[in-house]
Amino acid sequence: MISIAEEICTGCSMCLKVCPHGVWRIQGEKATLVSPERCIECGACQLNCHDGAISVTKGTGCLVTIIREDVLKIKTAHDGETCC
Ligand code: SF4
Ligand code: SF4
Repeated sequence: MISIAEEICTGCSMCLKVCPHGVWRIQGEKATLVSPERCIECGACQLNCHDGAISVTKGTGCLVTIIREDVLKIKTAHDGETCC
């Protein structure tokens, strides 16, 4: 599970740079979750958000990605990074 406190976000774009799955975009000078289904809950965005605007709770994100891509053969539109 991932969430953002938009009132805290300064729009620095760091979360976009560190996310391996293109989950974020900047819209209206704030980070926005545009593809939350791609999130593998790695925590990189939370770790690199110096304003503490992002919260990532470890859950089943990686498992869901494995099932989608390796079992069901549903390709996620990302750059080929693996989740674990
Ligand atoms: S790293 Fe944090 S402050 Fe920077 S754009 Fe992302 S959510 Fe906003
Ligand atoms: S937890 Fe990882 S995959 Fe999910 S949005 Fe943050 S950087 Fe991207």
